[in-house]
Amino acid sequence: MTRISVILFDWGGTLAHVRTQAQAFAIGAAKAGEILCGLVGQGEVERLGRAILSAEAAAAADPSHREADLTAILAEWAAPMNPRFTRQQLDAARDALGEQWIGSLEAVPGAVEAVGELHDRGLRVGLVSNCSVPPEYCRREFARQGFGSLMDFTLFSSEVGYRKPSQIIYQEALKRAFSDGQASDPSRVLFVGDSPALDVIAPAAMGMKTALVASPPGFWPDEDHAQARPDLRVGSVAELPALLDGR
Ligand SMILES: [Mg+2]
Repeated sequence: MTRISVILFDWGGTLAHVRTQAQAFAIGAAKAGEILCGLVGQGEVERLGRAILSAEAAAAADPSHREADLTAILAEWAAPMNPRFTRQQLDAARDALGEQWIGSLEAVPGAVEAVGELHDRGLRVGLVSNCSVPPEYCRREFARQGFGSLMDFTLFSSEVGYRKPSQIIYQEALKRAFSDGQASDPSRVLFVGDSPALDVIAPAAMGMKTALVASPPGFWPDEDHAQARPDLRVGSVAELPALLDGR
């Protein structure tokens, strides 16, 4: 493998695992509903949950990979209950959902230490994550897990407007990875993640090196696993510093 100077990490399933998203979502949705339309019942909270999930699924299936827009989903959800909510209410409702999302992931054991060690070696380290939550909440949650000061940059699909495997988000990551006027050299980048399609096949097609992190059986489609040709396979990101020694 060519000498690596940049490591780009996926987030969910790679650096952290989801812990309590469902409960936190229900609380956030109820608050958002209260802000937009007064008290809302359990059925309305569930309707918002379904609307967000289906918008995320539609974004994942969209050939252009546009990220779902949480504010637009909230506006559409609230309109039948209160057609006259204000922009301020809408922003406050979006923030209520974002606030509840903080604390809903948990860093993988050893991940913070591994990223810190790679960063200390002088590697440039960045995050490239598919997440429809507004970027300020993504950044806060990522920092809460202990990764904040270890990363040279973070990039969320909610900020770029496009999800992996859109070329747009990887290109933006390469631009940030090789700042200071350096020409971008994908062969010096290692992309690390648990999705064979998003974290291996797509970045490899752009010339990056890849490391596939183990995921539970059946979590990603078998055909993606069959097509992916990662340069490295790891059980956990905690293994990376030893594997990259001297590379
Ligand atoms: Mg992932």
